[in-house]
Amino acid sequence: FEKRLMDAVGEPSVTLDGHAVPLRANIEKEDEVDFVKEHAGEGVGLFRSEYLYLASPVVPSEEQQLRSYRTVAEAFGQEPVVIRTLDLGGDKPMTGAPHLFPREDNPFLGFRAIRFCLEHRDIFKSQLRAILRASAHGNVHLMFPMISGTREMREARAVLVECQEELRAEGVPFNEAMPIGSMIEIPSAALTSDSLARECDFFSIGTNDLIQYLIAIDRVNDRTAHLYEPSHPAVIRVIREVVENAHAAGIKVSVCGEMAGDPIFVPLLVGLGVDELSMTPPLLPACKFVIRAMTAVDARDLADQASSMSSPEEIERLCIDFYKRCM
Ligand code: PEP
Ligand code: MG
Repeated sequence: FEKRLMDAVGEPSVTLDGHAVPLRANIEKEDEVDFVKEHAGEGVGLFRSEYLYLASPVVPSEEQQLRSYRTVAEAFGQEPVVIRTLDLGGDKPMTGAPHLFPREDNPFLGFRAIRFCLEHRDIFKSQLRAILRASAHGNVHLMFPMISGTREMREARAVLVECQEELRAEGVPFNEAMPIGSMIEIPSAALTSDSLARECDFFSIGTNDLIQYLIAIDRVNDRTAHLYEPSHPAVIRVIREVVENAHAAGIKVSVCGEMAGDPIFVPLLVGLGVDELSMTPPLLPACKFVIRAMTAVDARDLADQASSMSSPEEIERLCIDFYKRCM
């Protein structure tokens, strides 16, 4: 079986009936580039840019960030590299700078990600400038985390425009057409995804947080881990709605949470209309194997059937049965 998996690595990620589903990688550091290529990742669907900050006692400089982003952008040429702006706070405090992250009773509902960036404009702008500068060296996409609705998206884009104006005045090159997207990982963003889609060039659904906030289950609490269910009917409905709203606005949807790298759920996501998947590199071969063994038509039937079910167990069983038939 291992061999069959590795044989799929060099093949295109296309269903039996010809539907392409690009499979991209989630990375945290520039030195993961070779690892992504070994597993045939089609670019990077989620560059979690926190790593540079988490490991550092000081806020990294614009130049230091540029070096990291540029290395990845250059390594992938025309393949997309989706750089997500800082998602510090929550389960990822910057331990080297405790003054920036005061203790909170509910960190997952607190001062995190885009909320932090919009208040610390200097830190935010140095990262945006670094990403813009890297966009001159590859197919860089930019994405904002923990967007709750259109207001934050507009605020974030306004800061980006400031950075673009500065760089233009300084004569520093960047890609004027760099696509700008939003993570969909807060229920309010999902429910208003029709209007949010008009402010974005793409969506990427972060199921790790989306499930946590939809079901009110702490994603890092062992005591409630058994209640953390990707197959919950609410999750299926929300993903379907986000995809419909995105497609109606003419933009694409990726899923970059752990659900995207679970071969059991890949057919369901494709059937719901998700355009691309992004996952940790070692999971790429198994997911590609499933895609190459199924049809998009059957996946749509699976998604329709799952959408009519009311229990997470039933939906999970349906997905497992589908998966087994692909093996
Ligand atoms: C997610 O929430 O699904 C996601 C991809 O982001 P992170 O896991 O970094 O919060
Ligand atoms: Mg998240």
